Amino acid sequence: TLQQANAMSRLGTETAFEVLARAKALEAQGRSIINLGIGQPDFLTPDHIVEAAVKALHDGQHGYTPANGIPSLREAVSAYLHKQYAADVDPSRVVVVPGGKVTMFFAILMFGEPGAEIIYPNPGFPIYESMIRFTGAKPVPLPLLEKNGFGFDAETLLSLITVKTRLIILNSPANPTGGVTEKSEIDNLVRGLEAFPKVAILSDEIYSRLLYDGRKHTSLLSYPELEDRLILLEGWSKTYAMTGWRMGYGVWPKQLVEGATRLAVNSNSCVNAAAQFAGIAALEGPQDSVDGMQRAFDARRRFLVERLNQIPGVSCVEPGGAFYAFPNIANTGLTAKQVELGLLDQAGVATIAGTSFGAHGEGYVRLSYANSMENIEIALQRIQEWLESHQ
Ligand code: PLP
Repeated sequence: TLQQANAMSRLGTETAFEVLARAKALEAQGRSIINLGIGQPDFLTPDHIVEAAVKALHDGQHGYTPANGIPSLREAVSAYLHKQYAADVDPSRVVVVPGGKVTMFFAILMFGEPGAEIIYPNPGFPIYESMIRFTGAKPVPLPLLEKNGFGFDAETLLSLITVKTRLIILNSPANPTGGVTEKSEIDNLVRGLEAFPKVAILSDEIYSRLLYDGRKHTSLLSYPELEDRLILLEGWSKTYAMTGWRMGYGVWPKQLVEGATRLAVNSNSCVNAAAQFAGIAALEGPQDSVDGMQRAFDARRRFLVERLNQIPGVSCVEPGGAFYAFPNIANTGLTAKQVELGLLDQAGVATIAGTSFGAHGEGYVRLSYANSMENIEIALQRIQEWLESHQ
């Protein structure tokens, strides 16, 4: 047998991809499966964005680009962030990468090593914990609680910081819960962090354009005092329905830009050149499709949450953002994994057990409402029938 590096045994995965594979296999056997498992918009990338990539290809944009991204794209990102948050971000601090995930990968590689501690949300995007373990650093979970609408609590977070803490990962709006952290809590955190100037922050704001009920996104970028230690993770995947294009970016503190760019040179070299031109069109072009998708998600969200709360044994807090609901199923007497497997194999609905997002996810399942209203209606009927006959 081949001898793999020890670190490989510590590398986890994202169960969403396994559930997707199982759902596809069941479909191939002729079963009807409604997929509320995968977290990607069910919309197509808007036409004007696709056209920009086609044009770039015809214009001969076929070669490597600078590793940190083409200058006009980094300028477009800077202008976008100014428009959204009145933030002053020099384009030299923007590093374009193949998907939001890669900024996460780079930041955790940059700070993680044996002896270091990294605080991360739990339940949270599974790659945080996986990557932290891979580097040999100690993962320190920040529990996110239903009673706080799954937003983080600044006091709890600050109490987890030790002399070994190198990095804190934040995510709002959040996967898998749809939780949105209140601005007042972020204010408290930023104030509290003054006492810990050596701790870096990775703020995963990939769902920044998906908020509901009139909420406004609070970006960590709007706190200039964090400029020297904030890494902003953003991208095109969720906002512009571009998951398959692999386009994301990080805004890095000045002193970390060189390291992030070196990581890019050592891994992806650059992002697909034509996709970068599409990225410019997305940021600079009309935003009506973004608003249209947000409205469609909102209508599904309301319907989904209302219907979930009608199912005996299930209760669901209203998610403030992203496109996930995270119903509490503890009163059904079933574990999260039992519900996930039963719903997929017997009821034909793909969901993801809360435990796939960390130990604090027990008692919950994640449902993505990035699916048509019609499918969501059928799925809820199936979920209700299955749960009523299994508790
Ligand atoms: N961060 C969070 C919280 C996510 O949910 C996702 C995707 O599911 C990502 C990052 C990764 O996005 P991308 O597809 O752009 O790599």
